[in-house]
Amino acid sequence: MKIQLLPSTIDENGMASARQHLLSIIIDDKVAIDAGCLAFSCTDRQRAQIRDIVLTHTHLDHIAGLPLFIDDLFATLTGPVRIHATSEMIEILERDIFNWSIYPRFSELSNDHGPVVEYREFARDSRFQVEHLSIQSVAVNHKVSASGYIVSDGEATVAITGDTAETDEIWQACNAVSNLSAVFVECAFPDELGSLASVSNHLTPGRLKSELGKLKHKNIPVFVINMKPMYRERIISQIRSGDIPGVEILEIGKVYEI
Ligand SMILES: [Zn+2]
Repeated sequence: MKIQLLPSTIDENGMASARQHLLSIIIDDKVAIDAGCLAFSCTDRQRAQIRDIVLTHTHLDHIAGLPLFIDDLFATLTGPVRIHATSEMIEILERDIFNWSIYPRFSELSNDHGPVVEYREFARDSRFQVEHLSIQSVAVNHKVSASGYIVSDGEATVAITGDTAETDEIWQACNAVSNLSAVFVECAFPDELGSLASVSNHLTPGRLKSELGKLKHKNIPVFVINMKPMYRERIISQIRSGDIPGVEILEIGKVYEI
């Protein structure tokens, strides 16, 4: 399984930066988990191939690129862009984003080939198929309806937490997979911003360490994502000094073969 966290920010030389404002994870150049920066930094090949977007939740940093991704493709689509989401997420998208005030209601629009958007609703804690991937949704602990995912291509199986504070279900789901290959976990704030992390339902390095205590797989890579860009260096240094076994910082833009 090929996994890439798309870059979302440029440095002072106009090059992709390690700072992550927006989140979009691309699997096998074909399926997107979240669409934070999907329109901005995906490759032409990814833009041509990705027709399935699985949302973890509807916060702006996870959907900012969604309207523009559909807009870019509007005239050339020969089938709809499929948005996989819970009913709560779909309701929020239709009410607050695709409402003609912020952006067109694409779900009502068609091109010469038919509808350009199709919502694929899934129930919380369900399993569904997206392209070649089998996906299990696991509700996590965030401010809005939010899902983590266990994603399998039949060979590799990875867990992606999405945005979450302390939770048990995603770790139980990880533990139920005998051959889990890797975990991608959020860590948004440094330890000294623990109260902000609490109020916004995110993790800090200290809380990440205790969360990972719930994971029974001890010899697999755990990649940290979703670090608030202004605190990135601080979070990384706390993670490194926290001596959390197996934890790596996911390199933005790099294609990982899992
Ligand atoms: Zn969020």
